[in-house]
Amino acid sequence: MSKLISINPSNKKVLGGIEVSTEKEIKEKITQGHKAKSGWRGLGVEGRAKILRKTIENILRRKEEIASLASQEMGMPITLSRADVDDSAHYFNWYLDNAEKYLDPEVIFENEKIKHTILYEPIGVSANIVPWNFPTSNFVWSVGQSLVSGNVVVFKNSEEVPLSGKLVEEIFEESGLPKGIFSEIYGDGEVGKILVNGDIDIICFTGSTNTGKYLYKVAAEKLIRAFLELGGSAPGIFFEDADIDRVLETIFANRFLYSGQICDGLKRLIVHKDVFNKTIEKLLERVRKARVGDALDEKTEIGPLVSQRQLERLEDQVEEAKSKGVKIVAGGKRAADLPGFFYEPTILTDIKPEMKVWKEEVFGPVLPVVTFESEEEAIKIANDTDYGLGSYIYTEDKERARRVAEQIQTGMVSVNNASYLQPCSPFGGCKRSGIGREHGKFGFNELTQVKVIAEEK
Ligand code: NAD
Repeated sequence: MSKLISINPSNKKVLGGIEVSTEKEIKEKITQGHKAKSGWRGLGVEGRAKILRKTIENILRRKEEIASLASQEMGMPITLSRADVDDSAHYFNWYLDNAEKYLDPEVIFENEKIKHTILYEPIGVSANIVPWNFPTSNFVWSVGQSLVSGNVVVFKNSEEVPLSGKLVEEIFEESGLPKGIFSEIYGDGEVGKILVNGDIDIICFTGSTNTGKYLYKVAAEKLIRAFLELGGSAPGIFFEDADIDRVLETIFANRFLYSGQICDGLKRLIVHKDVFNKTIEKLLERVRKARVGDALDEKTEIGPLVSQRQLERLEDQVEEAKSKGVKIVAGGKRAADLPGFFYEPTILTDIKPEMKVWKEEVFGPVLPVVTFESEEEAIKIANDTDYGLGSYIYTEDKERARRVAEQIQTGMVSVNNASYLQPCSPFGGCKRSGIGREHGKFGFNELTQVKVIAEEK
């Protein structure tokens, strides 16, 4: 039997290993799910929420252990890993607190003779597959709302964070969920393929656009739903009236924290020509102060990239840009004095649209910056991408912000320091960034099927 080996990206030391699930085990877990689904549905929202609350309690009780493992396995700075656990619990609680409101039967039509009642019913056995970049919230966002909606889940975490996956499985086991409601399998994309090609009723996927395309085809062949949260290349438009001192930390966080490994992180900065030099100066000043180091160090702001593979991919993107004449304002190379998969926080200018750092999703601490002259041009540059997940607008002019926000082709827009992250608000993208929305009433709609019952009065 082969093993997934977990490596600490801060120092390249082996943390442990987990056996890869066999085809037989995967099929058994799907079968267990089918056996368990009617019992889980029968508990109703209240019964399911009661059991799932225990899971949240256990997540919070083991917060330090979860956070520390995430930092060691994925390289997320420890202060951010702790916040990720707290945020995840907050989202999970919201799903449970609000499930009845959105899933209770609803009378949608009524006259003196008949009435129509809508039921929100679970879909069945859900195959949930996630990447490595937020070990706790990727998991909670993927499975929490689905479970309380009455689906049962076979979950696969990324091969980069198998120990975090195992810890989650342990927490679910100790929370007393009936067998088959939540089960986990381990492995890479090949294991994921076996899962999605098995007897499942819905695919819930978070990950790259390429994998999403494959899964959409699998779902089409089966004629089942595919809920896809994919990659992004978020533009940030910085207008001439924007207050750099007010928004600098937001820009820095959106590109450089988590080593730039955020799906909806700011990946292309588009700055008005009149304030270009000043903006670059301020960014450079902030980047120079950034504390890069071991993810377990409390002072670290930017940790390593998750893996050698991710580091090489980033390096390839920047090297290609160098060969085409990019200007390196900061960074532009590995952090050679550190033992892990570290890349220096990087700012690039003199960008050509065909460069990989501009055209592709860049999953690392690298910020390409270009200029614009008119609002129209800025919007055109922002929309000139296959992706449509997040976007950022920086201006003191509220009318302009709203006008531009309406024209940007993304699922989420943030103005200045305002975050669009809330468990009641939709998260997801358009274009090649995905299909469907997580959270809120939108997530409940994706994860249930509606039935209308017409009855005589
Ligand atoms: P990836 O697509 O390579 O892998 C994601 C998961 O899919 C892993 O568990 C992997 O084992 C599995 N997988 C890979 N090939 C598969 C296949 N053929 N069939 C079934 N499963 C398969 O993505 P990644 O590189 O691990 O993650 C980074 C990507 O995830 C980035 O593009 C990022 O933007 C995206 N992401 C999106 C969101 C979102 O909410 N939109 C959130 C986090 C990350």
